[in-house]
Amino acid sequence: MILRFWGTRGSIATPGPSTVGFGGNTSCAEVVTRDGARFIFDCGTGARLLGSYLLAQKKGPVTGNIMLTHTHWDHIQGFPFFSPLFIPGNVFRVCGPPGAHASLPEVLAGQMEYIYFPVELGQLGAKIVYQDMSEGTHDLEGVRISAQLLNHPAIALGYRLEADGASVLYLCDHEPYWEPLWHSDREPGKIDSILHEGDRRHALFMQGADVVIHDAQYTPDDYPSRKNWGHSTWSYATKIAAAAGVRHLFLTHHDPTHDDAFLEDVEQAAQAAAVALGSPMTVRCAREGSEEAFEGDAVATPGFTQVQHADPSRSGALLVLVVDDDEDLRLLARKALTKAGHRVLEAENGDDALRFVESQKPDLMLLDVNMPGMDGFEVLRRLRTREAGRPLPVIVLTALGDEESARRSFEFGATDFLIKPFTPPQLDVRVRACFAHSAA
Ligand SMILES: [Zn+2]
Ligand SMILES: [Zn+2]
Repeated sequence: MILRFWGTRGSIATPGPSTVGFGGNTSCAEVVTRDGARFIFDCGTGARLLGSYLLAQKKGPVTGNIMLTHTHWDHIQGFPFFSPLFIPGNVFRVCGPPGAHASLPEVLAGQMEYIYFPVELGQLGAKIVYQDMSEGTHDLEGVRISAQLLNHPAIALGYRLEADGASVLYLCDHEPYWEPLWHSDREPGKIDSILHEGDRRHALFMQGADVVIHDAQYTPDDYPSRKNWGHSTWSYATKIAAAAGVRHLFLTHHDPTHDDAFLEDVEQAAQAAAVALGSPMTVRCAREGSEEAFEGDAVATPGFTQVQHADPSRSGALLVLVVDDDEDLRLLARKALTKAGHRVLEAENGDDALRFVESQKPDLMLLDVNMPGMDGFEVLRRLRTREAGRPLPVIVLTALGDEESARRSFEFGATDFLIKPFTPPQLDVRVRACFAHSAA
């Protein structure tokens, strides 16, 4: 299969002399299989160049699958400038997670309303078929595509494509579920040593892959001031891909403030980090305009099958029990959750929480660890020993962010573990994802 990068920049297009090397266009990558099936990952401004390239080839009607990770600007801004969409006879399937408040075509049409753009979505000449994607393994043109939720303050999917005996993953935009990555008393560099269940799931998704294209917007120094913005550091991407036994890693979604010289340093540091972990993986920063050919070894590439999970955006109105002695936190959670369409019950201590679980049958619990009297761990322990049927999804909240709290939460049966303060979109996405996973 052939892989081409058409846009490697994150957040906003960054043209200019200092970004000529790695490119200034926003996210767009293309994979073409040996049989000619075409997959376009994201439609940032790089999609304009891809459109011109496809039309210049002029081999009859142009077809393809546009795989959107999510509908943040930098992933859809090139869609109205992707010229094959204007030409009758061309056929595209547009796949992606529906937005929490609107369908995929509604979101795409939004950026093409007359106040933003002169041509409306419905006026495009090509035949466009929309396909909502949720977690699971799908068959598109005989190619296996698995989708998995990423950790981002919007419902975002990562994709794993398997064809020609090779596997390629596209994982933008994604943030670590937890820092640090490893259990302190286990050997770093192994999937079994990963502390947070979300990061372990992310590693298992890319296990044994030939190629991983991963968000690496930040440096470890950048990250503390940019937490909850939904992006990774090159260090996290390298460590987790090395642990997963990936063969080739491309770092992408480059920060607009990182020029070519900076990214060359990042590339060297990331490659050195992989070597230090004992990994034979190659690590490069993705370059706009570059092309790679991959031949997989079908024996060495195990097929990945993702369990079909419910679509998190369709989880509708959930009844969420918020358990926290801090009134301000309950208020923040209530505002965020009701705005996202959920109903909220509040408990300020563990006894009330357990009573509400019995009497009100909530769909999900947000549980603070540090409460006077019965703490969150004890609430979780009692809840799990009482349960007979399907376990109640529980997101443990902590202000501490220490390893011991994370470890004990998962030991006691937490579904997810989230550090305070969180942002409203982040909370909405984690609640929906947590419910979708537990409903399968
Ligand atoms: Zn982005
Ligand atoms: Zn995004």
